[in-house]
Amino acid sequence: MSILKIARIGHPILIKKAEEVEEIQSNTIKKIIHDMSETMLDANGIGLAAPQVHINKRIFVYRNPDNIDENSKIEITAIINPNIEKISDETFDDWEGCLSIPGMTGLVRRFLKIKLTGYDLKGDFITTEIEGLHSRIIQHEFDHLNGILFIDRLAHKNAFGFENEIEKFWKKNEEKK
Ligand code: ZN
Repeated sequence: MSILKIARIGHPILIKKAEEVEEIQSNTIKKIIHDMSETMLDANGIGLAAPQVHINKRIFVYRNPDNIDENSKIEITAIINPNIEKISDETFDDWEGCLSIPGMTGLVRRFLKIKLTGYDLKGDFITTEIEGLHSRIIQHEFDHLNGILFIDRLAHKNAFGFENEIEKFWKKNEEKK
């Protein structure tokens, strides 16, 4: 396995639409997924899409936040050729970060509940309904496959900046409300 180089904002691969994977069960795809998982863990991320590591394919990996706890082993899910559909119009705002926009954060509006379909590492078709943080991560990673970054979906145009500044001026004010 190897740790891959992460593209940062400004690199054209991040604004390009990624291509469908044709041979889902190939060893090439398995190797990409293993390398992406290793890269995501090394960078302390909770999600990583293939274009972020200069691979123009519709694949992402993520850690399911419902299963993250200190004692359990790290569980990584890979989704190939995903599709998402909102289940309702209900949205929610929360702060997001991105390994391609290091040190920065933005308040992003996402659908609360979505239906996710795609293929897993074994090549099996999956379909699942998810909500909350889990749903937010999927929408963030799915956007990467269409060349969309979280800064394109800010809930408020000024709600974006370096984490420590946002922490000081925005989050404190939110708590006061
Ligand atoms: Zn990202």
